[in-house]
Amino acid sequence: MSNWQGPILSCHELTKFYPVGDGLFALKNVELEIRQGQFVVVMGPSGSGKSTLLNILGGIDRATYGEVILRGRKYSRLSEDDLAILRRKEIGMVFQFFNLLPELTALENIGFPMRLAGYGDKEIRERTAYLLDAVGLQERKNHYPSELSGGEQQRVAIARALANRPAVVLADEPTGNLDSVRSKEIMQLFSKFNKEEGQTFIIATHDRNFMEYADLTIHLVDGEIRERSDRSGAPI
Ligand code: ADP
Repeated sequence: MSNWQGPILSCHELTKFYPVGDGLFALKNVELEIRQGQFVVVMGPSGSGKSTLLNILGGIDRATYGEVILRGRKYSRLSEDDLAILRRKEIGMVFQFFNLLPELTALENIGFPMRLAGYGDKEIRERTAYLLDAVGLQERKNHYPSELSGGEQQRVAIARALANRPAVVLADEPTGNLDSVRSKEIMQLFSKFNKEEGQTFIIATHDRNFMEYADLTIHLVDGEIRERSDRSGAPI
């Protein structure tokens, strides 16, 4: 569906309720429409619902109420199996603690989603070589995660998230475990893929420095979008 014209990802009245204690709304009526190539940052204090939002948009978790639509496909209409297939093909995820497979090299980690998706050896070789180069890790391709620094591991994780050319890459606190120099390198890498390949990113972070790269920043408080701003911080 490369000629898809509508929003690439949207959610309507998205609500997540946890029946703990007196009950807790982790998300309340979240409305979002994200276009192809947008760089979206989700800011908010700890506990404001950022991870919950990303996990539901990524199809890892289900909403209590409301809808998520990815390229015209409604999550509520998909079985668990179909949602898993959609997730594998259309969503790339990056996490705070990298989540690489320890028994695979950098190169093998990057190619892993392509193997799951059934790509052939030649395509995997070409795509992983391109991605390794794009994230600046040619020299480290045969290293295992335990032999890489945190910043290098996160670069492998970003390359892996991009391997299947997903519609959207979701990153949950991707620099939360890195120092300020490495954080900046990672932000610039996201920005490079966004500018050069038109990749759509949604990044949840505490780090206000990410806002300068964002087309749209949404500010979550207690599970609600309180404000939307552009890269200068002006409300949209
Ligand atoms: P953030 O990513 O902004 O730190 P979260 O999405 O992790 O926020 O959490 C939002 C709220 O939902 C918090 O109050 C958290 O305690 C609560 N929450 C998250 N997951 C669960 C769960 N599995 N059960 C009950 N409450 C949860």
